[in-house]
Amino acid sequence: MNEISVSKILSQIKDISSEDNIVNSGRIQGINIYKTNLNILITKKKDEKEKDFILIENKIKKSLSQFKEIKIDIQEGELKKSDITHLLNMSKLNGEDKKLDDKWNMDSHKLFWHLDRVEAWQRGERIAPLHIDMGISSGCNMACTFCYGVIQNRDGYGTNSKKIFHMPTYAVKRTFKDAKDIGVKSIALIGEGENTLHPDFYEILRYGKEIGLDLSLATNGIRIDHKELDTILSSLKWIRFNISAGTKETFEKIHRVKQMDRVLNNAKALTKLKKEKNYDCVIGFQMVVTKENMNDIVPLSKLGKECGVDYFVVKPCSDTYDSRLDSPKGEYIEALDIFKEAEQYADKDYTVNVKWKKVLNGGWKDYQSCHGTQFILGLSGRGDLFPCGHWFNERKNEFIMGNVIDKSFKEIWKSDRYWEVQKKVREIVNVNKDCESNCRQHYINRFLFHEGKNDLSKIKGDYKDHIEKKPDHINFI
Ligand code: SF4
Repeated sequence: MNEISVSKILSQIKDISSEDNIVNSGRIQGINIYKTNLNILITKKKDEKEKDFILIENKIKKSLSQFKEIKIDIQEGELKKSDITHLLNMSKLNGEDKKLDDKWNMDSHKLFWHLDRVEAWQRGERIAPLHIDMGISSGCNMACTFCYGVIQNRDGYGTNSKKIFHMPTYAVKRTFKDAKDIGVKSIALIGEGENTLHPDFYEILRYGKEIGLDLSLATNGIRIDHKELDTILSSLKWIRFNISAGTKETFEKIHRVKQMDRVLNNAKALTKLKKEKNYDCVIGFQMVVTKENMNDIVPLSKLGKECGVDYFVVKPCSDTYDSRLDSPKGEYIEALDIFKEAEQYADKDYTVNVKWKKVLNGGWKDYQSCHGTQFILGLSGRGDLFPCGHWFNERKNEFIMGNVIDKSFKEIWKSDRYWEVQKKVREIVNVNKDCESNCRQHYINRFLFHEGKNDLSKIKGDYKDHIEKKPDHINFI
């Protein structure tokens, strides 16, 4: 049973004080399904009587009794139409599963191919992370509307762009080497500044390749040195252009620079060389959907195909728990036809992928604690190591584990501080209140919470077919 079928069943339940059903009234805000577990987020108005509310909860549980476990989370507020409301009313969908061609497991995770590490985690060992999202520069030459750096007016971003900071090259290389030595499988140059601005950027890529580290890069695509295209394509497992507009007008509005042609030309230069020399490096476009660029989804899907990239992925804008970015909620589903149209450009060489699960959950997490930071870390362009990128500028002092410029990554990982912070994340952080929605660790958090403690032989048995279909880039969990 999928989210659509669940919402259909829920739509049979009349709401407390209106003629509407609980989906159309805006009562239901998020649906998370994890195998036989169902988590529903519902809104309760302040003045509503407890007993009426319990009645609704019971009706929900009764109507969905095929789920082994139903957990209902409640948030206080006004009723507001959600993605699920819109989804239910899209007659075209008809309850069918959405078609996905998710070659690289983008709408999921890849822990299944690292079960030895999961087992060590189960035993309570001090495991090495499998992956690091790492910045080598802090600052950017764009000023995107949805960028936390810009919103928080950090040094190096937006009007403060002159204060850009580059991590010393020795610290970058030492971190790569340490990471490789302790068992980190991959590093993505991602999650903070525009790393192509680092003065030794290409030397750093070559070093990563030399020591056999799986490296990848997310870039705004402005600064690509055409003399170094071979370095990029031979050192990186994948490169992703973060481009969130399909027209120049929206590009300038969202990214706040006039460089769209340049970005597209850089993408074309890479795809051309990749084809000529048969490089494996996967090249993609990623669009962050905000309220301003929904009409650009189809044009960008078309542009991606014209540029010859391997994929185009559309992802909802992650928001802060208090919605500071005003990211779309119900509006996504109104754009459903647009998503469908964008998918029409997909063919055997071009994947178009919408991160659906993240669209439908209403930004709500169906797990109570975060264990994902033991497998994926966040390292800022200033060298500050955190459990995840969310803490780069929020409650920084509480969550910083150390700085890789002052101390080696290996030393930090071995330190008590590292493990105290990890414990704090696990035990103190309220993932639905303190964190951003749909964070990087979300998929592995779901797995670890719901099934991570199961016996390894059970996991291997349950996912036998899935594990046999090994996707590319398994080290980028
Ligand atoms: S749940 Fe919170 S602490 Fe854990 S990775 Fe996500 S944002 Fe970070």
